Amino acid sequence: MLSWVSISCRNYAMSDHWGAISRLVWLLLLVWVSVPISASSAQPISPTEELSVRKVVVLDPGHGGHDPGAVGPSGLAEKVVVLSVAQEIREILSPTYEVHLTRDDDYSVDIERRTEVANHYRANIFISIHAGGAFGHQGRGTVIFYHRRRNAGSGSTPYRQYGNSWETGEKPIPWEDIQGKHTAESQLLAELVHRHLTGKLSPVDAGIREAPLLVLESADMPAVLVEIAHLSHPAEEAQLRKPEVISAAAQAISEAIKEYFKDCP
Ligand SMILES: [Zn+2]
Repeated sequence: MLSWVSISCRNYAMSDHWGAISRLVWLLLLVWVSVPISASSAQPISPTEELSVRKVVVLDPGHGGHDPGAVGPSGLAEKVVVLSVAQEIREILSPTYEVHLTRDDDYSVDIERRTEVANHYRANIFISIHAGGAFGHQGRGTVIFYHRRRNAGSGSTPYRQYGNSWETGEKPIPWEDIQGKHTAESQLLAELVHRHLTGKLSPVDAGIREAPLLVLESADMPAVLVEIAHLSHPAEEAQLRKPEVISAAAQAISEAIKEYFKDCP
């Protein structure tokens, strides 16, 4: 568990800044090649429409289909709870940000596919949402995870020893270590989600933890896994049956995302 950590977003902001510039350059090129040189009758392209670059948020409602996740003592399934939370977050944030869900109904999605969706959309933030089924169904309370590399500290290559192969010819970063580029920003995101969720829900506070997480390890952006609560506990299942609690959780995570983008424009 972590105590309060003060994390600067400056490095992330720099890389994000260059990422935004890179996207703008590509968009400009696309606009340029898509306008016929002699087509004087072509519809003018609005630069504001073509060049709007909104922050991208990918939300991952855990489980789905044949995998219910945790199931509460009275039968409430985690897959149902987390989809409701993700859909409410999308509703709150869509006017401001581009929001995608890894699943939008009750079907199964491979873990690797969930990360691929985030990378495909070049998300600025990836949040996997759970309610007690990611790490077994024990315990209770709200807990936020960020990724720690598998085998970290047991002789594996430290992330810092990987070079930028396209610049230096050094060995490239393996996909399973990509999240290591974003650890500081993921910690900041975890801290914000934790602060807002515990402020809104008054849950048992199980804190912030780091752990090897398959769904986050190949995510090439700041990413966290949120356990809103633990359905296996009767009192927490009773809370998660209330629509106002689902809305409060969605509101809290949305506020954390907004604050993150304020800190990391
Ligand atoms: Zn889960």
